[in-house]
Amino acid sequence: MENISRKIIVISILSILVTTPTFAMGISISLGDGRDDMAISDTYRLSTDTALKAKSTFDGHYIYQDRQLYGDDDNTLVHYVEGNGYNSKNVIESSGPLRVSTSSAAGSQSASISQTVMGTGNIFAELQGTQGSDFVDQKTNMIDGSLSLSQSLAAGSLLSASQGTEMSGISCYLESSSLSSSNAMLINGFFYKVEDIKADLTAASQGKAWTMGEISAYGDNCLDEDTLGSLGSKSMGLSFDSSYVKDGEDAKTAPIFKGAVQTNAVNMDRDVFDSTTKTGQAQSSTELESQTYGGQVGNFWGWLPLGNIYDGTTACRWNQANPTIQLYLLTDANYYAEGLNTNSVCTAIQTAANIWDAATYQKLFASTVIASSSVSRDVQDWKSVHSWEYIGPNSNGVFSPGHSHTWYTTSSQKDGFFQIIESDVDYNTYYSWNTNGNSDGINYDVETIAVHELGHTLGLADLYNKKNAPLYKAQDQQIMNYQYNHPLWLGNGDRQAIWNMYGR
Ligand SMILES: [Zn+2]
Repeated sequence: MENISRKIIVISILSILVTTPTFAMGISISLGDGRDDMAISDTYRLSTDTALKAKSTFDGHYIYQDRQLYGDDDNTLVHYVEGNGYNSKNVIESSGPLRVSTSSAAGSQSASISQTVMGTGNIFAELQGTQGSDFVDQKTNMIDGSLSLSQSLAAGSLLSASQGTEMSGISCYLESSSLSSSNAMLINGFFYKVEDIKADLTAASQGKAWTMGEISAYGDNCLDEDTLGSLGSKSMGLSFDSSYVKDGEDAKTAPIFKGAVQTNAVNMDRDVFDSTTKTGQAQSSTELESQTYGGQVGNFWGWLPLGNIYDGTTACRWNQANPTIQLYLLTDANYYAEGLNTNSVCTAIQTAANIWDAATYQKLFASTVIASSSVSRDVQDWKSVHSWEYIGPNSNGVFSPGHSHTWYTTSSQKDGFFQIIESDVDYNTYYSWNTNGNSDGINYDVETIAVHELGHTLGLADLYNKKNAPLYKAQDQQIMNYQYNHPLWLGNGDRQAIWNMYGR
């Protein structure tokens, strides 16, 4: 018979009135006998407009807690669920209407947390767990938007954390990561002014780290199960970039910018991860904010490397001098349906490539584009292929003119850069295409889009994810900004960025 009397039960409730209109409070419930211990503890800093109800029950083996929070203004919730075999932490910081519903169970060797977080304004929500050398983490950060989020964590034999996210906002960020003693898998997404973001992500670890799931923006698949499945089996990363445009009222109306997304997924050996990133620990939201918005070089906003997962050291580029990247044009039925002249299209893409070559005095690209009917789009096959395919639309009629997939290997590094091995560019058949320089939101000029997409091929990211969202004046001049009508020369920020990576 179990000796309940030997167990120690500690419940402490601390309520401190700090200053109106905020109050801070801590609740801690622990249960154990020194061998079989478990605890659920919370700290809160809540606005006085916020109502919180928490109920805990326990038996000899588990502590259960259910909590409901209806909040407004500024709220911070920190929730720990810990046992002998694991520990987990959940942080929610919000500014604006918030509703949280959480159910947690803590045993000495296993635990579960499931919760929903809904609200508008600014919300940061993170759920992480550690079990031996395994670690999993799910993060969502939204600035000036609306969010519906479900998160769950399970610790026990397998450690896993999941999030199902639907959000829109001025600036949004998603992250799913898992670490094990053998490898690290990291997925993140940066979204600027995107209204229709959906993600279902699971990070799990048990000796090996892996992630599953998908991310879409405006119905455009940014990361899918197949891609993550294939990344999980090699030391490789993929960066996806897309920007979205809604048609103007008619062909004479300028297209309306509807946001941009960059998603990254990378799998690397644990020793590579340890040497290229600060730590496996979760970042504070301040750190998160600074990385979400990228950096500034001199007076020009132009330095935002592709594949930048944590702190810039995992950026990627073509590491060899004069990489002479061979580009292909896929001449399939989609392409022929555009009625384009193949020589003119090859020349347009080549002219775009030459703009980057000229800026660096390097042979970044080969001197001709090869037209071929037998190369493949969006498949990692060591061939960088430009092709036409149908992308979109979503229910709001939002389309991307083009997007890029850039693959890099995480098994070799030079000067802190991973090695890009391939970059495919897709042009949307929803639009009409030409090679005479005319882009008006219905018709697009190949060279104009190619200059921007080839910036991604070289390792540059989009410039949209900037602090407080406005497009800076200097940014407006950059190819890597949303610029589908500008004259085709690089801005000073573009130049500085490409020099940072390839010299000058
Ligand atoms: Zn882009």
